[in-house]
Amino acid sequence: MNIQSGTFDATASADALDALRSGLRGDALLPGTDSYDTARAVWNAMIDRHPGLIVRPRGVADVIDAVNFARDHDLPVSIKGGGHNVAGHAVCDGGLMIDLGLMRTVRVDPQAQRAQVEGGATWGDVDRESQAFGLATPGGLISDTGVAGLTLAGGIGWLRSRWGLCVDNVISFDVVTAAGELVTASADRNPDLYWALRGGGGNFGVVVNFEFALHPLGPTVMFAAPIYPLNAGPGPIRFWRDFLADWGDRIGSLVEFSTVAESEDFPEAYWGQRCYTIAAVWAGDADEGERVMQPLREQGDLITDFSSQMAYCDVQRLFDTLMPAGDFRCYWKSHYLAGLPDEMIEAALTNAAATPSDNTLSSLWNMGAATMAVPAEATAIGDRSMGWMYSLDSVWPDPADDEANIAFTRKAWEETRNFSQEGRLYLNFAGHGEDGEALVKDAYGKNYAKLAAIKAKYDPENLFRFNQNIRPAN
Ligand SMILES: Cc1cc2nc3c(=O)[nH]c(=O)nc-3n(C[C@H](O)[C@H](O)[C@H](O)COP(=O)(O)OP(=O)(O)OC[C@H]3O[C@@H](n4cnc5c(N)ncnc54)[C@H](O)[C@@H]3O)c2cc1C
Repeated sequence: MNIQSGTFDATASADALDALRSGLRGDALLPGTDSYDTARAVWNAMIDRHPGLIVRPRGVADVIDAVNFARDHDLPVSIKGGGHNVAGHAVCDGGLMIDLGLMRTVRVDPQAQRAQVEGGATWGDVDRESQAFGLATPGGLISDTGVAGLTLAGGIGWLRSRWGLCVDNVISFDVVTAAGELVTASADRNPDLYWALRGGGGNFGVVVNFEFALHPLGPTVMFAAPIYPLNAGPGPIRFWRDFLADWGDRIGSLVEFSTVAESEDFPEAYWGQRCYTIAAVWAGDADEGERVMQPLREQGDLITDFSSQMAYCDVQRLFDTLMPAGDFRCYWKSHYLAGLPDEMIEAALTNAAATPSDNTLSSLWNMGAATMAVPAEATAIGDRSMGWMYSLDSVWPDPADDEANIAFTRKAWEETRNFSQEGRLYLNFAGHGEDGEALVKDAYGKNYAKLAAIKAKYDPENLFRFNQNIRPAN
């Protein structure tokens, strides 16, 4: 199948479409309706694609029918979980889009400390249901990001130091494969697929359910957020780096570079100036976290300090206002870093000063002890020995500025490549797909060949190819 092929012709396939609709509990949407335009919208305002048909399933049977319909009509499938993918992989031109937005049920078993999470749920859904029982699982930093897309590529959240990446907490996946079969993947059942789904993205089918392990946490946690002016220089960041050597099993943190908003939350003298926040969550007792993390707040003059004990659910929503869905254009890149040498800190400071857009963020992420403890062969993600990540999250409002912002991001990414190893990067922060198969191969390294073999077993025709695509092995 060619990646360009497969445009749905509603007139030629009218009878088949009627038959599909008569079985669905959910919807089948054609272009020209408001619901169609709402369903095809994704977080990145640069993405404006028009699927030939959008199915909004209300259950597994609807997903199976949609996949069978796509396969029988030679239509490629894109899958929308939360629609946050910056490359816009949730939505295709011409083909069939499965929008899981009506499948967001989360059911928690507090005794077993497990959550059953439908494929269209967001992290806000998971946190709300889990925290009702004083439980949590590592999730993303923004509440309306989809569980599915974030988890399937790894998933990096505040709790990673203590409990690992999101994938490290998945006990089983229920997947509708390209053959239209419902398959469970766990350590005991279809272990090859279980391995591949823990990092292999949306390549292997539609995940209709995730079973997550939950951990006791909260409801109150300690969140540290001292904000330093950019001209405070590298000192506080070096301190943070060295401090984490002792606390890398409890503190999930990043240094986030941004611009001070024109808001009464900040002293007016700093409005519009570049700054960085040492943002950190203590995965444990809040009082202990407040005491231990205090030195992060004492490394020089601050613009302000948002540190506080707060409800875990509020921590999980804190950054939402920085990144409203659909308002901004964006282009993100990343590198995993073997270490955080002073030269890399200097480069991050230089790039933060030079960004063309005040909405742009960039971050130095510490990956944490539990994330790094997982052996390379255990999950599709592969080698976890790189304990840091640099992400360039360029965000801007005006289409006229697309070229300048993308050029800036790529240049900064190229110039920091030498701090990475073997081109490894986080596939959820990987640009718009213009680096093609080479980038995907670099990201998976030695695991690519095994992933390609598993892809050939579960999706030999590459039906699911709107993703960081792994080509089926011949
Ligand atoms: C504002 C914002 C904040 C973010 N914060 C974080 C963060 O804190 N940590 C982090 O790790 N990442 C973060 N990301 C990156 C995020 O992980 C990716 O954008 C991810 O792809 C989003 O998942 P989604 O389900 O919302 O995306 P979608 O765009 O819906 O889907 C992304 C990919 O996953 C596939 N997919 C979606 N649902 C399914 C499914 N049910 N079964 C199979 N495949 C599926 C799609 O085909 C597509 O290829 C953030 C992104 C944004 C925009």
